[in-house]
Amino acid sequence: MKMPAPDQGTIARRSEIVEALRRIVPGEGVIVDEDELQAYECDGLTAYKQLPLVVVLPETTEQVSRVMRWCHENNVKIVPRGAGTSLSGGSFPLADAVTIGLGKFNKILDVDFDNRTVVAQPGVTNLAITSAVAHEGFYYAPDPSSQIACSIGGNVAENAGGVHCLKYGLTTNNLLGLEMVLPDGEVVRLGGKHLDSGGYDLMGIVTGSEGMLGVITELTVRILKSPETAKAVLMGFPSNEQAGDCVADIIGNGIIPAGLEMMDKPAIRAAEDFVHANYPLDVEALLICELDGPAAEVEHLIERVEQIAKDNGATELRISRDDAERATFWAGRKAAFPAVGRISPDYLCMDGTIPRKALPEVLRRMREMSDKYGLRVANVFHAGDGNLHPLILFDANQPDELEKAEAFGADILTMCVEVGGVLTGEHGVGIEKRDLMPVMFGEDDIKQQQRIKCAFDPDHLVNPGKVYPTLHRCAELGKLHVTGGRLPFPDIPRF
Ligand SMILES: Cc1cc2nc3c(=O)[nH]c(=O)nc-3n(C[C@H](O)[C@H](O)[C@H](O)COP(=O)(O)OP(=O)(O)OC[C@H]3O[C@@H](n4cnc5c(N)ncnc54)[C@H](O)[C@@H]3O)c2cc1C
Repeated sequence: MKMPAPDQGTIARRSEIVEALRRIVPGEGVIVDEDELQAYECDGLTAYKQLPLVVVLPETTEQVSRVMRWCHENNVKIVPRGAGTSLSGGSFPLADAVTIGLGKFNKILDVDFDNRTVVAQPGVTNLAITSAVAHEGFYYAPDPSSQIACSIGGNVAENAGGVHCLKYGLTTNNLLGLEMVLPDGEVVRLGGKHLDSGGYDLMGIVTGSEGMLGVITELTVRILKSPETAKAVLMGFPSNEQAGDCVADIIGNGIIPAGLEMMDKPAIRAAEDFVHANYPLDVEALLICELDGPAAEVEHLIERVEQIAKDNGATELRISRDDAERATFWAGRKAAFPAVGRISPDYLCMDGTIPRKALPEVLRRMREMSDKYGLRVANVFHAGDGNLHPLILFDANQPDELEKAEAFGADILTMCVEVGGVLTGEHGVGIEKRDLMPVMFGEDDIKQQQRIKCAFDPDHLVNPGKVYPTLHRCAELGKLHVTGGRLPFPDIPRF
């Protein structure tokens, strides 16, 4: 993975940059010591590390705006950062960029049960939103497994998903409003507590934009009433194919579970050894299906799911008797990533999405790739929406193993696109999948996407080097930024 060469001129101006940031964010809000910068040297994609030029921790929108304006006027790059749990390197720091950490934006500003909304600062954790409304029987539906740590601002930037998103939608479907600071320091507000806004869906563009269009400083999300009943069914199958067919049949029968997750044998064993969820160890694949709603509806759907599972050859079938047992069913799935971390020194977590019907084929081909590369793979996925999370196990201390794991991962994602799927389900492109973008998009597609980036950030100062494999200048893409009357790149043909 290569990043653009850092600008030595910016690095040479470090003291001047630090001084300017200290004038805007006084006290302990500017981090320059190497020891302290190390806390920011990577995100959840820990294979890559780089100390940032400097970290600034503003506390108000006005400070963010002044930092952005100063950086814009002085041609200094910035990288927005929430909790740093991105698995695609979205908040990976740059040697010549200021990391803007949103950790101090940690307040819930308004809880409005009548309008069923919460207004929060972006550094609030995902789980804290549910915790703030649970006493009145409400919750925030998108629930990434990292919800105890990841920030709601990072969720918007990555359009995060989770187990409940199959039924209740991703972050984008639960977001109503945003305050955002544009690259030149201008503060804009999009949406609000109301359900729709006129004009273009700019909030839709910002959601999932991976910190490349500006810094989100406030957001309004929808909260939902907790369901009257929720039950989970645990189903074990003698083959991945049968489990995959069962998933397709559940959805094909018009049932939309609150969650429908799958684990293969290596993941089941790792999870069982870690949390002792009493998972069956003699099956090849495990499905966990949660159904929620009024009690009578849940009972009816449970019976239908049971029948579909039997028709697909399930050898193990358990229905949660109470909330404690339902939590136990989920405990292994929720702890699957750390569980796999215990059986391998390192792993790469991939994130591709496929049409559900392709699941058996994709799992078979992945096993063949595992043999070819000589690396083990454990599979945990949001089966209901076809979002795979293959965990490729390797040892970074062994020569070439990281490169082999990366090549294996690239083959998996290429296969996802080949079978009609996409490169990412919820973790974003970042630096991890950046160079695979041409597998999915033609050059014109990528250029069109970059033109949107240019409309927000004509100087490419915000989170550069991420998502797009080529560093087209905005001028090359037909958008001109004329400064002081001088036409940049005068010899490049214009549109
Ligand atoms: C164990 C584990 C499990 C995970 N499970 C899931 C899962 O189930 N579903 C899922 O979707 N993801 C999952 N993730 C990935 C990750 O938690 C999400 O992508 C999350 O949304 C990132 O939030 P963050 O606050 O950590 O953002 P960061 O990692 O800090 O940043 C992520 C991106 O958002 C940008 N950004 C952050 N804050 C802002 C802001 N205020 N304004 C503008 N841009 C911003 C950054 O520039 C970067 O591009 C998991 C990660 C881990 C480590």
